[in-house]
Amino acid sequence: MKIKSLRQIRNWGPRTVFLRVDFNVPLQNGKIFEDYKIVAGLETINFLLSKQVRLIIATHLGDPGGQIDPAYSVRPIARRLQKLLSRPVKFSSEISGPKVQRYADKLQPGEILFLENLRFCPGELTNDSTFAQALSSLADIYVNDAIAVSHRRQASVAAIKDFIPAYAGLLLEKELLAFNRILKPKKPLVVIMGGAKIKTKAPLIASLLPSASYILIGGALANNFFKFQKLSIGRSLVDEDSAKEIKKFFTGPRLNKKIILPCDMVIKNKKGQAKCIPAQSIGRDESILDIGPRTISLFASYIKKAATIVWNGPMGKFEEDSFRQGSLSIARLVAARSQGAAYGLVGGGETIEALKLTGMPEYVDWISTAGGAMLTYLGREEMPGLDKIVSK
Ligand code: ADP
Ligand code: MG
Repeated sequence: MKIKSLRQIRNWGPRTVFLRVDFNVPLQNGKIFEDYKIVAGLETINFLLSKQVRLIIATHLGDPGGQIDPAYSVRPIARRLQKLLSRPVKFSSEISGPKVQRYADKLQPGEILFLENLRFCPGELTNDSTFAQALSSLADIYVNDAIAVSHRRQASVAAIKDFIPAYAGLLLEKELLAFNRILKPKKPLVVIMGGAKIKTKAPLIASLLPSASYILIGGALANNFFKFQKLSIGRSLVDEDSAKEIKKFFTGPRLNKKIILPCDMVIKNKKGQAKCIPAQSIGRDESILDIGPRTISLFASYIKKAATIVWNGPMGKFEEDSFRQGSLSIARLVAARSQGAAYGLVGGGETIEALKLTGMPEYVDWISTAGGAMLTYLGREEMPGLDKIVSK
């Protein structure tokens, strides 16, 4: 794989760069709750500033659906960036049009202009080429550092590349190199999957199955397999139409031997109490909310053999105290093994939250900011944001 890296540019000259970032941070009433996505983007920004470019930065925030909605203004993000960089960040509430063009024309080398939420413009969501061209006309080159939206066909990551030369930002490049260590793994590869939505995770399981030695399934994801096997799952969370996703992992009634399901679980009973039970003994009014201790020990035996590990999706409803031991145990095992003999990659919003609860995230080789885009990439599905930047 070849990545068109920023580091390949030799003559920077007095250029204007349009940098697409993903600073889609949790934010309410102007308060930012977690700024790791902004911090993760600083390396590319500092690199570009060191080249004395004029820098235009744009992100989306939430999903205002192509309409202006002050609750989704990215002004607080621009302010946080200004603080993190200790240098002025100008702000434009217009995204395209004569006003922002004037701002862009006035920018001096080393200055930054931050644009309002890209998703205030309907053209962003429809990958409109007129809108993409308007964005591109602000700059000489385009840099995509927004891996987390690169699975979307949207103007600021897709169509814009039709108009000006496009490069990968440093974060995007690092993310891709980490993902490629999973796609071409040092073996044995152990894949750990949990969380909720089977639809978003099945392509990844299918894509990694040939190269993986084991795929350990926990969380609500496992319920879909149990249901397919016609085992009772009580009132557990399950995707209603998951059979077609799950079917491909079975030959007749036999599950692919590489796929390992939980052998015990922690359930919530009718009275709301947590209880540990063996598999297949759940009552009608009970729900599976975590993997049990025998499953933790079973999964540990595979994790301990891994040379490459990828983990996405909590093992249970870890937001509740009684149902977090599975996720925390797996997090510790992944961290410990990654610290030692294996290469470890962890991704997914909630998965990272669970890993952080152990205080061990720095032991893991790579923590991806990509979210759903990581699943898409590892599932070998289309990534419109990478066209013209990455070639086979
Ligand atoms: P990520 O964001 O890391 O990719 P997902 O979004 O797929 O993960 O799923 C995370 C959510 O799944 C968590 O909020 C967790 O509470 C929920 N979850 C996991 N296992 C279960 C379960 N057995 N029952 C109900 N919810 C579960
Ligand atoms: Mg999630």
